[in-house]
Amino acid sequence: ETMILKNIKETIKEKSVELLHLQFVDIEGILKHVTVTSEQFEDVVEGKIMFDGSSIKGFSPINQSDLYLKPDLNTFAVLPWSVEDGYSEARFLCSVTNPDGTLFDGDTRNVLKKTMERAAEKGYTISVGPELEFFLFKTDENGFATQEISDKGGYFEPSPQDLGERVRLEIYRALKAMGFTIEASHHEVAEGQHEINFKYADALTAADLATTYKWVVKTVAQKFGLHATFMPKPVFGINGSGMHVNMSFFKGSENAFFDPSDELQLSEKAYQFIAGVLENVKSFAAVTNPLVNSYKRLVPGYEAPCYLAWSASNRSALIRIPAKKGLATRVELRCPDPSSNPYLTFAVIASAGLDGIEKELNAPTPINEDIFHMTEGRRAELGIDNLPGSLKEAINELEGSEFAHNALGDHVYNEYVSMKKAEWDSYRTAVHAWEIENYHSKF
Ligand code: GLN
Ligand code: MG
Ligand code: MG
Ligand code: MG
Repeated sequence: ETMILKNIKETIKEKSVELLHLQFVDIEGILKHVTVTSEQFEDVVEGKIMFDGSSIKGFSPINQSDLYLKPDLNTFAVLPWSVEDGYSEARFLCSVTNPDGTLFDGDTRNVLKKTMERAAEKGYTISVGPELEFFLFKTDENGFATQEISDKGGYFEPSPQDLGERVRLEIYRALKAMGFTIEASHHEVAEGQHEINFKYADALTAADLATTYKWVVKTVAQKFGLHATFMPKPVFGINGSGMHVNMSFFKGSENAFFDPSDELQLSEKAYQFIAGVLENVKSFAAVTNPLVNSYKRLVPGYEAPCYLAWSASNRSALIRIPAKKGLATRVELRCPDPSSNPYLTFAVIASAGLDGIEKELNAPTPINEDIFHMTEGRRAELGIDNLPGSLKEAINELEGSEFAHNALGDHVYNEYVSMKKAEWDSYRTAVHAWEIENYHSKF
């Protein structure tokens, strides 16, 4: 018996864990779980708990619907808010397996694992630090979300009387109790907007943490009568919520992106990584920015990117190189938003970077001017292209992209494309409030 298994058993006893939630994500990254009693622990660990894959969107057809959950022991955590009268509940994040024990291709956690293997073949581990922003909204007497923002604070504003500050403290405590290393917590630029940062980790762990973070933030907010949303642009006219992804490749204990002799202290591999990301970002935008609403965030003026450029410190660029160097050298991609599936988002970014390294692509010159306030003419002169302007444009780029197909694998790629097309169609045919406002009385 392994050490980790022994520790889990002890905790289950010590904390009187009654229930085990076996969690996994669907193709969109939405968390699901089935709950079993802790008496079934042996079966759980052996991956014997079954579920109906045909009831999960994009998983499996009705005639091959039996799938199994294989818990990742590293993700075991007692739920801090469940502890009551000496009893508690715990969870595992799981990988989905086929009845024969092989990894199920529709599980996006498995997609990311494959990307990590591809990196490992080249001697790299992928290190990721995501920054997830969110809004807190008030709820009504029935507990449903309203459109009313919960506080009036701004960037880094200390507001002890704000509910937001109290909620952030409780979220921090819950995350810490579940094993997160929290580095910072602050009010974001927009009113009602917040961000809590956790320490970078290997890609799979980071995606597990991002998934858990979203769940914990929502759960704790609800206890304060608030609704937390990771929708990218919940309010017109103020900042939206991003999920900046900081990524670097390591070779052993060395950061492969660091080269002290370079002007920007970046290695050749780092430049190739940047080039690979810029080369493929249009075709993976439908993954990192998956919603109709995602493209309402990617407009000039709100610290969210819309042009394909990189720079050492320019927050109007798509890629920024944070000032910290040495082991902390990393590339920050600023387009992803927190509604995306973190497993897929990290997989496509890493794959794009690996492509850049394999093909030894050259990074374009960095752009240090404010791109938001550049004329179209100047942008054309500098050869600065745009991100897709809508989900429709992003789907068009995704469809037929060999890069995206390889990065996501057959199952996820095909399901994802058809899912997003249906989503766009539903949006395209709906009549929106904007149309009523602008056309109804005029015409
Ligand atoms: N909210 C901005 C975005 O949409 C980021 C702002 C920041 O982190 N400084 O990406
Ligand atoms: Mg940040
Ligand atoms: Mg931020
Ligand atoms: Mg950032």
